Amino acid sequence: MNRARVILLNAALGPLDYRIPKDLRVEPGSVVLAPLGPRQVPGVVWEPDRAATDDVEEKRLRPLLQIYDLPPLREPLRRLVEWTSNYYLAPLASVLRMTLPSSSALDGARTVTEYRATGRIPERPTPQRRQALERLGDRQGLVRELALAADVSDNVIRGLVKAGAIESVEVSVDDPFPRPNPDHRPPRLEAAQRAAAREFVGAVQAAEFAPFLLNGVTGSGKTEVYFEAVAESLRMGRQTLVLLPEIALTEPFLKRFTVRFGCEPVAWHSGLRQSQRRRAWRAIATGDAKVVVGARSALFLPYRDLGLIVVDEAHETSFKQEDGVQYHARDVAVMRAKLEKIAIVLASATPAIETRHMAEIGVYREIPLPDRYGAAEMPEITAVDLIQDPPPRGRWLAPTLVREIEANLERGEQSLLFLNRRGYAPLTLCRNCGHRFQCPNCTAWMVEHRLVHRLACHHCGHMMPPPRACPECEEVDSLVPVGPGVERIADEVRALFPDARTAIVTSDTIWSPAKAAEFVGRMEAGAIDIVVGTQLVTKGYHFPNLTLVGVVDADLGLSGGDLRAAERSFQQIMQVSGRAGRGEKPGRVLVQTHEPAAPVISALVRADAEGFYEAETDARREAAMPPFGRLAGIIVSAEDLAEATETARLIGRTAPRIENMAVFGPAPAPLAMLRGRHRQRLLVHALRSVPLQEIVRDWLGKLEWPRGVRVSVDVDPYSFL
Ligand code: ADP
Ligand code: ZN
Repeated sequence: MNRARVILLNAALGPLDYRIPKDLRVEPGSVVLAPLGPRQVPGVVWEPDRAATDDVEEKRLRPLLQIYDLPPLREPLRRLVEWTSNYYLAPLASVLRMTLPSSSALDGARTVTEYRATGRIPERPTPQRRQALERLGDRQGLVRELALAADVSDNVIRGLVKAGAIESVEVSVDDPFPRPNPDHRPPRLEAAQRAAAREFVGAVQAAEFAPFLLNGVTGSGKTEVYFEAVAESLRMGRQTLVLLPEIALTEPFLKRFTVRFGCEPVAWHSGLRQSQRRRAWRAIATGDAKVVVGARSALFLPYRDLGLIVVDEAHETSFKQEDGVQYHARDVAVMRAKLEKIAIVLASATPAIETRHMAEIGVYREIPLPDRYGAAEMPEITAVDLIQDPPPRGRWLAPTLVREIEANLERGEQSLLFLNRRGYAPLTLCRNCGHRFQCPNCTAWMVEHRLVHRLACHHCGHMMPPPRACPECEEVDSLVPVGPGVERIADEVRALFPDARTAIVTSDTIWSPAKAAEFVGRMEAGAIDIVVGTQLVTKGYHFPNLTLVGVVDADLGLSGGDLRAAERSFQQIMQVSGRAGRGEKPGRVLVQTHEPAAPVISALVRADAEGFYEAETDARREAAMPPFGRLAGIIVSAEDLAEATETARLIGRTAPRIENMAVFGPAPAPLAMLRGRHRQRLLVHALRSVPLQEIVRDWLGKLEWPRGVRVSVDVDPYSFL
């Protein structure tokens, strides 16, 4: 063939045909550079019968410019890209982009030039230059990366290079990664663990599609068990991907992995420097990276020989990507395992209802680990009735919980207070006129962050210093915080126990793997008595001396009222409870609530996960909600309110009438304004027999809307905001 069909990395374009020059050898999956008008755009060669385009005469075809020195994307990955694009109604190019490195890294250069401080101080340091050097420390990276880290312009960094205060260093992106050793330090497994491990090892050896649900209580040794499958994949010389729900969990994972396998795995997440990213990408594509641990974006990388996938904390909703291609990494991971014909382990102490259902109908094989490892017992959960046992006015911790913390301090044991709210207070208002501080760009209150002395919008990042006077009535010092965030709880704890050592753990304080490592180190050294944290501390961590968990507001998660609110609350409280009593000392959990009789709370107190799940599952079945029915959200947004509303109405008006399918809306989204755009939502609900994507594609495909309007479809939505 001398004609190649190419999917360019340009979401606005469909596949295009090009002529293959005589001296180029291309095959499906080859990464190429193609002309597009006056520009040159990278793309991937595709099978012509799998990507439709107009027939263009042979002689009108333009020639490909270049083929990159990269391994071609393998067939299973090409099929995964197609599947993802079809299922989530995303352009092929947008999905394809997730498989390739940034275009600057395509060229295959083996070194990257980075910069770092030399320690020499320039002769006339401007304040900007001084700030840059102070903030950089011994950090190394591209000019852009350093500028971002130091919060100065690129020019300040370049000036420092000229002045000799920063020097360039060549970093090889070809350095091999160390090989994990499957037999470095295997644990002695308990009987149930051994049986589970044997299943996984067998499945890895069989090299066929085999999806598992590893359903084990917190502290049952799930990680140790799936590590045996990783070891087997290593022995076979194949690659393993371990997906974690967030970067914060990477650091403790790397440590544990090193203990078991003798060296770190290859990490993949948004915090990598470009040189690290390029090195990791190449090693993944050549097969040199044997074990990759990463956030959801690691799922689309071009592994040369994938032998196993593990999705840890598989119930986590952060596996759902909410911008760009809106996919669910857990579900795509299962599809990848199917296409690669390999085993996949979904590990969780609180599996999602969707996942449990797949196990119930026999599609996934469920492997239970019902007991904690060793002598550790599951902690006892007690409800604290905030109506019977209220905290003093203006405080948030009930007397019962305070007494327990005190007793724990006396015993020299650690406590954890959980509240899933960053900052000091979720709302600030003027005591004089009632003015409430709202984000100018979003339908959201500005959240006070006292540590950094700012009001911040958690949706768009807008910040402002807290004003002294009310902007409405101009009264001075009249602003009051309403409701608690973790910072306010920490204040209360400090006031109650001035001698205790407290730590706040949120994404504001633990914003890098190094910060996470520091926190873990201090906990392990016993340098912290009381942790106040958001969901960031609810999972993954193993602190044997942590024996008390207090849930400050168990009702918080239920207020949103979406499809999964109860399930999510249950999972979150189970997970945070799972931090208590993981060592020899037993753990206790106190759950503060206004409604101790609510199904979620009473199930937790009775330790009746099965009962809770059954009731939830029945409710979903009755309403034909996922996994028994299907949903798709359609979100229309525009800066212009009328354009958004009119487009949403047009979509609603033209909704096809199809049996077993209903369209709700349009209506203003709960987050009616986000980043300065007005938002309208529609919700499509259908039975599983309805080909939902096809219908939505046809329906929206026929419509037109003004340029400033964005219409996005969220298949299997998790957010209803
Ligand atoms: P989970 O992931 O199910 O919460 P972990 O894998 O974190 O459980 O195990 C809990 C703790 O028990 C960890 O410190 C782990 O190292 C330890 N552990 C579990 N199984 C074993 C074993 N067979 N031998 C030694 N330590 C174990
Ligand atoms: Zn905002």
